[in-house]
Amino acid sequence: MKPRKTDARQASLAVLRKLRDAGFAALLAGGCVRDMLLRRTPKDYDVVTDARPEQVLALFPRARGVGQQFGVILVHRLGVSVEVATFRKDSATSDGRRPEQVTFSDDVEDARRRDFTVNGMFYDPIADRVIDHVGGRADLEARIIRTIGDPARRFAEDHLRMLRAVRFAVALDFELDPGTLLAIRKLAAKLRGISAERIWMELERMLTPPGRARAWRLLRETGLAPHLVEEWRPPTDESDRIEVRLAALPTGDISAALAAASLVCERSAEQVRRFCLNLRLSNDLTDAVAWLVAQRADVLTPVADELAQRRIWRAHPLCMDLLELARTECMTQRRSLERWQEVSAAIQALDPVNATPPPLLTGDDLTAAGYAPGPAFGRVLSAVYRAQLNETIRTPNDAMLLAREMLGS
Ligand code: ATP
Ligand code: MG
Repeated sequence: MKPRKTDARQASLAVLRKLRDAGFAALLAGGCVRDMLLRRTPKDYDVVTDARPEQVLALFPRARGVGQQFGVILVHRLGVSVEVATFRKDSATSDGRRPEQVTFSDDVEDARRRDFTVNGMFYDPIADRVIDHVGGRADLEARIIRTIGDPARRFAEDHLRMLRAVRFAVALDFELDPGTLLAIRKLAAKLRGISAERIWMELERMLTPPGRARAWRLLRETGLAPHLVEEWRPPTDESDRIEVRLAALPTGDISAALAAASLVCERSAEQVRRFCLNLRLSNDLTDAVAWLVAQRADVLTPVADELAQRRIWRAHPLCMDLLELARTECMTQRRSLERWQEVSAAIQALDPVNATPPPLLTGDDLTAAGYAPGPAFGRVLSAVYRAQLNETIRTPNDAMLLAREMLGS
């Protein structure tokens, strides 16, 4: 069972109290403080403390260290795992990745190592007091994403922060501070040094929620867009259409497959494969994206008039995503929605469970009838199955007759 949000809060408070009772400093930190001040429900509640990892482990013997060199211990309470991190400062790196070494420190330095002012605050739940060493409250009120300290230096330490800036601006509906924006513009090309997995993780988090069109606009404005995926630099007109498409998608969350497909759907099948490969998408996600892009071209053409095709789409788990993607085609091409509405209604009127019944004729049936398996088999079976879905044949006997006709005996 997934823990409820209140459990996450209760669990972190219990952990925090136990640290306090043992004489340590303990505060809530980062995203949860920001979200509480914005009256949003935090995803998780991270605890920071001046207790060293081994002291945290002594208090919570069943806890385990996650990357103990980073000083983070996972404590389990009420079915929730609470992250307890020791105050630290990150030793700066020059290669744009997260530091390998940490130095334990105090709350002031722990605040300064964080990325953005709105993410750099602490909260003492016992005194009900916000501890703000970085001007986070003012920026929260002004609705601004600003790096803590010199933006160029902070982005140089970790280039992924450039994408995080966009993600938080979108998620919170904040503006990027001009200095922060300027630094991203200068350093955007450095995104290339970040692993594709981490880039996709950020992209997914900004494109699946409703703010996706603004996310794309900001990715363009910051100059990050051409550096997201190797070998993929959409020209201006394509980029404009991506924005129109993202804006036309449903107002709720969308699937990762639909998000990725919206970016590459004007590309060839080969380019779509390269895009997914270069982003290191999973095989399943790659197949889903490739399927959506390949099929969406047909939804608005006469191909969609065939009952068999409609049934095949209906039975596919991504059917609704396909219809959404096809609808955005009407928007980007400024076409009327009339045809789309007709096709979409016809497809949705079909029962997804019975859309693609078992075939009336199989390869075994053909072999039993004395045909030697060969290259023609697959072609014939698929044509016969389509005839079945089109309801031009209805019985195994009809199916065999049609196959015999096609196989020429
Ligand atoms: P979300 O609600 O999306 O999880 P969050 O603020 O909790 O937002 P996390 O990625 O979970 O974000 O990180 C927790 C905190 O750790 C951040 O609020 C920030 O203070 C700090 N942090 C995370 N990633 C970085 C980074 N790359 N550079 C500096 N500080 C970071
Ligand atoms: Mg978080």
